[in-house]
Amino acid sequence: MKYCKNCGNALDDSAYVCPACGTRASTPEPAPAPVPAPTSTNNILAIVGLVLAFFVPVAGLICSIIGLRKVKECNSGKGLAIAGIVISALGIVSEVIAIIAYIALGSQLYQYFYEFFYEFFREYASLAMAMKF
Ligand SMILES: [Zn+2]
Repeated sequence: MKYCKNCGNALDDSAYVCPACGTRASTPEPAPAPVPAPTSTNNILAIVGLVLAFFVPVAGLICSIIGLRKVKECNSGKGLAIAGIVISALGIVSEVIAIIAYIALGSQLYQYFYEFFYEFFREYASLAMAMKF
């Protein structure tokens, strides 16, 4: 609610002229200046983390986590960093399952479990990424 500068009459917020005295209540507010788009730089750690996730899951996980923390700074790479973390985590889980299988069942099954889980998750993650990007 605003009031007329001339007579003090209560005015509707959208009123430009006071209905009681005819004084112009306010000039239309100028449109706010456009906010400049934030600049974005390549989130290199997120990219490196995602690549490493496929080959060296532990290194990929570390790089992706650091990359995720740099998302705000770089204004990019969030999807890449999350994909890197997921793929790395799946790779590590697959390795752990494979190692447990190796200890429990022997070397032939180690290879089988490792290939089954890691390849499965890797393909699944690639597919999920392809759908997202
Ligand atoms: Zn007035």
